[in-house]
Amino acid sequence: MTGSAAVVDSGTTAGVATHCPYCALQCAMTLTGHDATGLQISAREFPTNRKGLCRKGWTAPEVLRAPDRLTTPLIREPGGGLLPTDWDTALDHVAERVRILVAESGPQAVAVFGGGGLTNEKAYALGVFARAVLRTPYIDYNGRFCMSSAAAAGIRTFGLDRGLPFPLTDLAGAGAVLLIGSNPAQTMPPAVRHLAPVAARGGLIVVDPRRTPTAALAEDGGGLHLQAIPGTDLALVLGLLHVVIHESLADAPYIAARTTGFPAVQRSVATWWPERVERVSGIPAELVRAAARRLAGAAPCAGGPGGYVITGRGAEQHTKGTDTVSACIDLALALGLPGRLGSGYGCLTGQGNGQGGREHGQKADQLPGYRRIDDPAARAHVAAVWGMDPGDLPGPGVPAVELLSRLGSPPASGRPAGPRALFVHGANPVVSAPDATAVESRLRSLDLLVVCDVVPSETALLADVVLPVTQWAEEDGTLTSLEGRVLRRRRAVAPPPGVRSDLEVLAGLADRLGRPGLIDTEPARVFAALARASAGGPADYSGIDYGRLDAGAAVFWPCPATGNDPGTAGPRVADAEASAGTEESAGTDLSAAAQHVAAQRHPGTPRLFLDRFATPDGRARFVAVDHRPVDDDLRPDAPLFLVTGRLPEHYQSGAQTRRVPELVAAQPEPFVQLHPDTAARLGVEDGRPVRLTSRRGVVVAVARISAAIRTDTVFLPFHWSGPGRANTLTNPATDPVSGMPEFKVCAVAAEPADAVKPDGAADCAVAAATTREPIAVAASGKAAALTDAAWTGAAWTAEAGSTS
Ligand code: SF4
Repeated sequence: MTGSAAVVDSGTTAGVATHCPYCALQCAMTLTGHDATGLQISAREFPTNRKGLCRKGWTAPEVLRAPDRLTTPLIREPGGGLLPTDWDTALDHVAERVRILVAESGPQAVAVFGGGGLTNEKAYALGVFARAVLRTPYIDYNGRFCMSSAAAAGIRTFGLDRGLPFPLTDLAGAGAVLLIGSNPAQTMPPAVRHLAPVAARGGLIVVDPRRTPTAALAEDGGGLHLQAIPGTDLALVLGLLHVVIHESLADAPYIAARTTGFPAVQRSVATWWPERVERVSGIPAELVRAAARRLAGAAPCAGGPGGYVITGRGAEQHTKGTDTVSACIDLALALGLPGRLGSGYGCLTGQGNGQGGREHGQKADQLPGYRRIDDPAARAHVAAVWGMDPGDLPGPGVPAVELLSRLGSPPASGRPAGPRALFVHGANPVVSAPDATAVESRLRSLDLLVVCDVVPSETALLADVVLPVTQWAEEDGTLTSLEGRVLRRRRAVAPPPGVRSDLEVLAGLADRLGRPGLIDTEPARVFAALARASAGGPADYSGIDYGRLDAGAAVFWPCPATGNDPGTAGPRVADAEASAGTEESAGTDLSAAAQHVAAQRHPGTPRLFLDRFATPDGRARFVAVDHRPVDDDLRPDAPLFLVTGRLPEHYQSGAQTRRVPELVAAQPEPFVQLHPDTAARLGVEDGRPVRLTSRRGVVVAVARISAAIRTDTVFLPFHWSGPGRANTLTNPATDPVSGMPEFKVCAVAAEPADAVKPDGAADCAVAAATTREPIAVAASGKAAALTDAAWTGAAWTAEAGSTS
């Protein structure tokens, strides 16, 4: 018998047991080798990846040995380039500039922008730095771009947000999984092994405007692919809910016992009959009915083995993303799925620490432990941990898009001047933010831009000060996977001389800015402080420590310091025991749950909500929502939908993966996917450059013609900068609840690019228009002329070498 609350995660064989540096699946791996040059990876058995890794994981060490790895602090000469300096000079310079700006304009003159890839310790320390050292309300992070709508919807219905409130391995036993706006076959391939059994049963239902490999997996197994018009997922889900209710497929006893608000939802979907859904979404009415019946047939109330509704960024990155997720949760609730063993609702978090990164104080409105910053009790608790008066803690800030738009702005209509300085850690908003040209302009307007990074990202190239930091195999820490499972990242090699950790950078600045000793440099001690700060909060880590993790546990939160916690999220010990013997605990000495109980330690919470939801009355709240059009809808001069997304070979802004030769060779450049009929109508040929124009800018990329995409839609991956930067086109309009921008759809015009080089390469006139002046920089200790050539990932040439 085994217990799922503890999974062996320490590695007992030679090598260092750790996890992948990239996505939220956090595949387990073992590292061997004494330095970055000789670092080798082997896949490790773990419930989520079962010894599988994708191409990015296998090649991860290449980033550490990138020819342009930053190894010394850089300071920009007035009006000139970035020049190397020593750490004391760099930190003294930054602290002095901050002091001057705060003296002139107050604490709000300084802002902080974090990342969903930062370890829990870094994310926590960044929040301490912003709120307790700088005392600015202006902190947010790039997780706002990927997780916020699902988080907001989860909190308003369940009272708690954890991406998957159940282990990923649970999916395999389901009779049906409705997957909306997610393509795990390409974004996290090892996860597909948990969906494959469902697909083989004909139970996988995929909603996506493209026939992705995930959609093909569904169809090939006898499941369904609903190729909806971009921006119409909400209408489609309302239609599914309509069918469930109209055909009496709902779980009435569950609704009565475990939910509130159903009558309002019943009324709100009454007019969303399938024929109306067909007109809005393009999905045939009979397919809508078939999908609803397939999912309902798997529900426990129909005697089925269980069903899941899962969302991804395709459903969430919209101005109505929160409402779309709410509709998905409503559908799951109507069928009695959430809080039931073998069924549920969840979202597939994207970034490596997308889950933990949103729990420990990087979000504009939150304190550690997923506490609200406007809650007096939360403020008092966290202020005590930080040794300060709660009244000195700043209030809520603003979400990322608004924060970026305020940078360097003058006072306007009652709004104070925007921040004059920005610290960036673990993010590359010049590539990843919507309407990126405007963001670039705001960054250029700052008095001080400080970027901590591993490589000279596009954002770092704009900075006044660049601070080189450690990454992944060079550091200790923890991350929280898409399941809410806290995992250890372990140091396997020493960082290059001259490189410091983000913790050391923040501690050095805190010392200089009047809070010496407030930020620790040892990850284990930072985690201990984080755990204390989270105690009693929704995301309670107080029962977790490095000793426990290093003894082999990988614990799901909430995990309070002592005993069970019947007041919050449901079962704890009972759940661990209930999951005993499942595959997720493969390799564990089993009765870990019982041992924890005997030791009076909470076993963690693999499955939330089995007894009650985290709302005051313990019931899940239905939320009535309605469909609305996309913000930047089609019009005569922009008759195509643009959708953006990821490729298997690259990760987020590409700052890391565009420096891995094998990945660059496989996907060297941005491209536009378009349907053969669309290409024929526009006169576009495969492999030739296409110009896309939106209200915000112009992009040129080569055409890839494919029947896998709708005729009214084009697809552009978002991993590149320069003339192929997808976010030059995207819409910064945001969801009113979550602040998430509408990355996933906007209107564009497409045409053959007119300036074509003889070899068919992309339009260089556009490239020239967006290329910056060369910046003098020291990379890997050697002076080099660094330009925007890195945008293609194909090549920037320096003395140190070439990535091409
Ligand atoms: Fe696993 Fe994601 Fe890393 Fe690929 S990128 S190896 S799927 S954690």
